[in-house]
Amino acid sequence: MSNYAPPVARLIEEFSKLPGIGRKTAQRLAFHILNTREDYAVNLAQAIVDAKRKTKYCSVCSNITDIDPCSICTNPKRDKRIICIVEDPRDVVAMERIKEYDGLYHVLHGAISPMEGIGPEDIKIKELIMRLQKDDVDEIILATNPNIEGEATAMYISKLVKPIGIKVTRIAHGVPVGGDLEYADEVTLAKALEGRREL
Ligand SMILES: [Zn+2]
Repeated sequence: MSNYAPPVARLIEEFSKLPGIGRKTAQRLAFHILNTREDYAVNLAQAIVDAKRKTKYCSVCSNITDIDPCSICTNPKRDKRIICIVEDPRDVVAMERIKEYDGLYHVLHGAISPMEGIGPEDIKIKELIMRLQKDDVDEIILATNPNIEGEATAMYISKLVKPIGIKVTRIAHGVPVGGDLEYADEVTLAKALEGRREL
């Protein structure tokens, strides 16, 4: 490691912090960058900085957005009476792919996991409850992942929301148990949405 010039060593070091990138891949990526044109390196660096600086959580749904509120929350064609609750912004992308859902979203940014010390206060549940008390909502669809954490989160939210008098449904288990919503194919996800049951 110390045999590399310090700027190269630093680049390798930063790449190796990325998920799924080992030391060897980090070295390969660093040398790839060194061998490309300078404008490519500048563009890449700028894209990373922009993605970080020019995005934030939507103040309504907590999805990642560059405009606040996000384009889904402000779309007049969306049904504001239905909110689909997901764990991750990538789940919004998965749901949007099926093109059958026209309601709004709420992104929790995680799931309750006592094992990992993640409690209800660590994810965007408070924001959801405040939103439901303020807005006119008929139904929430719990589309958290079908694993222990996702189920626990769905149950927790269901208990909080039902007393408000809002219909609570859970997507069907077309999504493989233990699987990630993000990786479900469109047909499976559409079926899971269609077959949702009331809690
Ligand atoms: Zn939004």
